[in-house]
Amino acid sequence: MTEIRNQLFINGTWTEARSSLRSALFNPATGEQIATVPVGGADDARAAVEAAYAAFPGWSATAAEERSVILRRIYDLIVANADRLAEIMTLEQGKPVKEAKGEVLWGADFFLWYSEEAKRINGEIIPSSRTTQRILVQRQPIGVVAAITPWNFPSSMITRKVAPALAAGCTVVVKPAPETPLSALALFELFEQAGLPAGVANVVVGDAQEIGREFLDNDKVRKISFTGSTPVGKFLLEQSAKQVKKVSLEMGGHAPFIVFPDADLEAAAEGLLYNKFQNNGQTCICANRIFVHESIEAAFTELFAKKLREVTVGNGMSDVNVGPLIHERALVKVDGHVQDALAKGAKLVEGGHRLADGEYASGSYYAPTLLVGVTPDMCVFREETFGPVAPFITFRTEDEVVAMANDTPFGLASYLYTRDLATTMRVADRLEYGMVGINESALGYVQAPFGGIKQSGMGREGGQRGVDDFLEIKYINLNF
Ligand code: ADP
Repeated sequence: MTEIRNQLFINGTWTEARSSLRSALFNPATGEQIATVPVGGADDARAAVEAAYAAFPGWSATAAEERSVILRRIYDLIVANADRLAEIMTLEQGKPVKEAKGEVLWGADFFLWYSEEAKRINGEIIPSSRTTQRILVQRQPIGVVAAITPWNFPSSMITRKVAPALAAGCTVVVKPAPETPLSALALFELFEQAGLPAGVANVVVGDAQEIGREFLDNDKVRKISFTGSTPVGKFLLEQSAKQVKKVSLEMGGHAPFIVFPDADLEAAAEGLLYNKFQNNGQTCICANRIFVHESIEAAFTELFAKKLREVTVGNGMSDVNVGPLIHERALVKVDGHVQDALAKGAKLVEGGHRLADGEYASGSYYAPTLLVGVTPDMCVFREETFGPVAPFITFRTEDEVVAMANDTPFGLASYLYTRDLATTMRVADRLEYGMVGINESALGYVQAPFGGIKQSGMGREGGQRGVDDFLEIKYINLNF
């Protein structure tokens, strides 16, 4: 792996953390230590917030055109460095290098899209009640943004927040996940090369609790944008109340994937395979409960099982479909869900165990797993498994499947496969989810508003709505 600036990036300078502690980083495919990383704390976070705060007046006052050009330069640099970024990601996160490159390029697209959108942060003029008045509405950047990101998409979850924030005229401090700091640092090398003014984008890796505390207590932070687990998101939301910080949250999901009897079964099985095994099942929009109509259950199970048997597992640096799970804890949770389902009567069609022999000996590998006969009393039906497990649940009627699909506090992604337009419209209307894929199992597109309802989150990322989350509305009443 090529050298990375393995430091914090604050106010345009690579710096050591105040603490001399370093934490070890391991490759989930091999268990080998790949680097040690600085452990930033509250003081480092405070310095980064100060830098972002000092840079805000200048950056927010730059011409939109100027911000656009720099964002476009970042896009070009990420694309030019995609192979290197992908390799870094695979080493620390485990996903196959081809998939990692796909993520890097998708992440870059946010810079391309928002480099264009930066020029279209328009206001409005509203007709007033008096002839001597004009009501003007201006959209202004919110201020300093703290972005807290997860390990499952180490690059694109940063770019999906940073690109619209910078386009809006905000300045940012990023705290990446402790499992994947190198992908973040490698991105910041490119931000620096692109000529972002000092302090506009800063990164602090280290102690999540300390850094998070500083973000929450420092009144210079006006906005927190978080992607991660539901408990941490709820904590940040609750704590943000003290200073009424704006908050965007993208948290857990529990996606239903409904296969109606008239569906194109081949397309549904292919779509499910892609969706379920993207990032080895470790995405918040992965299908967690697969509802299959009783009349096609046998055929669909056979079709999907055949495809699942062809999924290759191994070190992401080689040509495989899926890599290891992120760490041992994740593997223990996945296996716990599978064993709980089996104990409660589910049937195992494929997998159901860790892979530990030969090349798998030192990594956290789990066999692609298919369970049928899953019922609402099982953990897999209630909690996000975050792993390569496909639990099939049988249904009979549309009302029954909609009720089961909505029977969760989460509301992020949902999917349905049918060729009938009336079924499509009825069910899409009734699903309590922020996103619905119809005969489509990929939802992350730069121009689309990605996000959830209920306990899956608030706010939207991507597209025009994604920039709204970093803007305040100012109404000006002009009398002349
Ligand atoms: P996961 O369990 O999948 O790792 P987390 O929600 O713990 O999900 O992690 C998502 C991001 O939130 C990471 O960057 C993590 O370090 C950060 N995080 C965890 N706890 C806190 C906290 N108390 N304050 C701020 N950030 C936190």
